[in-house]
Amino acid sequence: MPSLSKRTENFTDSVIRRMTRISNQYGAVNLSQGFPDFEPPRELLNRLAEVAKEDFHQYSITWGAQNFREALAEKQSRFMGRKINPNEEIVVTCGSTEAMMAAMMTVTNQGDKVIVFSPFYENYGADTILSGAEPIYVPLYPPEFNFNVDELENAFKQHPKALILCNPSNPCGKVFTYDELKIIADLAEKYDTFVITDEVYEHIVYEPYQHTYFASLPKMWERTISCSSLSKTYSITGWRLGYIIAPKNIIEVAKKVHDFLTVGAAAPLQEAAVTGLQFGDEYYRSLQAKYTKKKDLFLKGLDDIGISHTIPQGAYYVLLDISEFGYESDLEFCEVLARDVGVGAVPGSSFFRENVNHLIRLHFAKKDETLYEALGRLEHIRNRIHKR
Ligand code: GLN
Repeated sequence: MPSLSKRTENFTDSVIRRMTRISNQYGAVNLSQGFPDFEPPRELLNRLAEVAKEDFHQYSITWGAQNFREALAEKQSRFMGRKINPNEEIVVTCGSTEAMMAAMMTVTNQGDKVIVFSPFYENYGADTILSGAEPIYVPLYPPEFNFNVDELENAFKQHPKALILCNPSNPCGKVFTYDELKIIADLAEKYDTFVITDEVYEHIVYEPYQHTYFASLPKMWERTISCSSLSKTYSITGWRLGYIIAPKNIIEVAKKVHDFLTVGAAAPLQEAAVTGLQFGDEYYRSLQAKYTKKKDLFLKGLDDIGISHTIPQGAYYVLLDISEFGYESDLEFCEVLARDVGVGAVPGSSFFRENVNHLIRLHFAKKDETLYEALGRLEHIRNRIHKR
């Protein structure tokens, strides 16, 4: 038999998604893969039920249904502070996972370098390999997860084609300040580099932090490929609705890539989601308030148990320090945690370029009762997980 493709040899399946399967296997409270267990807004579900009986069962236009793009352009223009053209500046994708992959394939050639901050969201590693690019990792230093400007400039000196910016950041919860983004913007301009953003947590930011869209910085619209999705904002991760927003010349190429990758996102789901895109500002305020409460509840619970952890400025993840257990493999620790404590987590090593084995990631996008259940189980962690 001939051998299978070389490009698949250098990455594994997603550890995040593997941890969901392991959690399910042990009946653990799954705080690994980030998705809610509460209902999406009622209005979306009601509309979805109607849509089932309407005429939305065939392909939509490949780059997204007209009314979906119009509603999205309207909403994003409001938040990004720039008039987005629904016909020329948007491609609707199957989740931001496709958006990021399509963005990478739109800008990079084989062997091109791409700057990735570490820790990073797991997909970027595979995205770079699949698109034939090579990552240059730049560390973010805890506790604030700041970058060192010289280290960043040194990475730019290697003439990368693009920088990937996850803001608000998964897994470390960093929300980049305007000044930090301005440093990145100046370097992107100086070294003529694209910036591909992943802004899926744009509406999950905790006071006093504020989200700044990278594309809104002076002169950055031209070189920014903004990727995001409806998954986290409307609690519909299974609907797989994402998008790319960028200038016309970039979108024309992204449309081609997307066309042959997936043809299009699910038509009935786009139609139902228009309802969400038309929500007023109050929806986003209450989403933020809801997640702020969950964050406070969960962090207090962890503090009561006495486990040290990061304090997120945005997104819904916490990194916990598990050094006291002395495990050499955080993967093994997570498996034992799911089995013996009954809580699903993601090993920190899947997010770091550096050799990090003392962190695990939990998320708190869950009903309060689920969070209390998880905290109740974690209370016994020291009796159930024995030191190595
Ligand atoms: N962003 C989510 C996480 O980090 C998962 C997204 C996914 O699995 N596609 O857990």
